[in-house]
Amino acid sequence: MENSPQLIIIGAGPAGLTAAIYAGRAGFTPLIMEKLVPGGQIVLSDKIENFPGFSQQISTRDLMAEMQKQAEAVGMQLVQEEAIGIEKKVISTASGKVYRASAVIIASGTRPRSLGIKGEKKFLGRGVSYCATCDAPFFKNETVAVIGGGNTAVEETLYLTRFARKVYLIHRRRMLRAERILQKRALSHPKIDLILKSVISEIYGEESVEGIRLLNKETGETTQLNCKGVFMFVGLEPNTQFLPGQLKLNRQGFIKTGQNLETNIPGIFACGDVRENLLKQVVVACGEGALAGFMAGKYLDKLGGQEYLDTRHPTQL
Ligand SMILES: Cc1cc2nc3c(=O)[nH]c(=O)nc-3n(C[C@H](O)[C@H](O)[C@H](O)COP(=O)(O)OP(=O)(O)OC[C@H]3O[C@@H](n4cnc5c(N)ncnc54)[C@H](O)[C@@H]3O)c2cc1C
Repeated sequence: MENSPQLIIIGAGPAGLTAAIYAGRAGFTPLIMEKLVPGGQIVLSDKIENFPGFSQQISTRDLMAEMQKQAEAVGMQLVQEEAIGIEKKVISTASGKVYRASAVIIASGTRPRSLGIKGEKKFLGRGVSYCATCDAPFFKNETVAVIGGGNTAVEETLYLTRFARKVYLIHRRRMLRAERILQKRALSHPKIDLILKSVISEIYGEESVEGIRLLNKETGETTQLNCKGVFMFVGLEPNTQFLPGQLKLNRQGFIKTGQNLETNIPGIFACGDVRENLLKQVVVACGEGALAGFMAGKYLDKLGGQEYLDTRHPTQL
């Protein structure tokens, strides 16, 4: 299609790649910017077993490589660039380049908030996890620890009891922050032990996690806890630092959109984990990516060519 509308997608995770597939199939030629490698944070985990259509575990790398191929087959152009600023749909990147688009889809995801303690990085994927929905089945009949005290931490603790033999829920305050009803459920669960007023100071092991060290904030006492898994739920941080100040975010910094996934700035859409939504999972990111790609296409169709630039691809200025 000559004079094709211009679409830039920021982030080549499940949301961004699916947006590219839908926009590409609608006849556009999206340019996708990825600061690292395509695939998104799901490739931090080796296998995925809750993506519909696959009854057996599949390699996350294989899944994401297929998504990338599918997007490329319908015209997606991928550039390794980190978006560092957006102003009126003009995107500046860390390499010093500037790109202009008529529509933008933000699919930049999140990063787990880390505590930065010893062993946390070393054992990621080998006992340290930030996602119980994803990794709990790997800890069947094992002892695991959950760090955090909010709703997510307690919900995930309850989820882990389906698999683990014992779950320690460790929180730094005197009381959990989670809703009463969740607290009640956790406190009455025979598999859950609550450890309050304590912080994790180290995760240790050889090849994989073997235990953690805890510091009681009140007594100053240090204890050791043997466990095979450590699940961290101390928050997610949205990758939104490069966005314009006038773009509406919620209190936690996630992007607010309407039902059509358009932000408060016309022509700028958001999808996947970076958006204010209720479930941060690949299937949701793909669903939202599909809708964002579709709605961005509708937006560009409405422009009727007036704002189109004169090449098929979004222009690098
Ligand atoms: C360890 C782990 C295991 C998981 N297991 C599962 C599971 O089994 N099943 C499941 O459904 N979900 C799982 N999840 C959750 C899943 O990974 C996310 O829900 C999903 O990846 C969200 O997709 P997304 O495209 O919205 O964001 P992301 O996957 O986070 O992708 C965003 C992409 O944008 C890029 N990016 C960010 N900022 C910029 C920028 N400024 N410029 C350019 N590029 C940028 C990032 O590098 C990244 O590639 C897991 C998560 C983790 C961390």
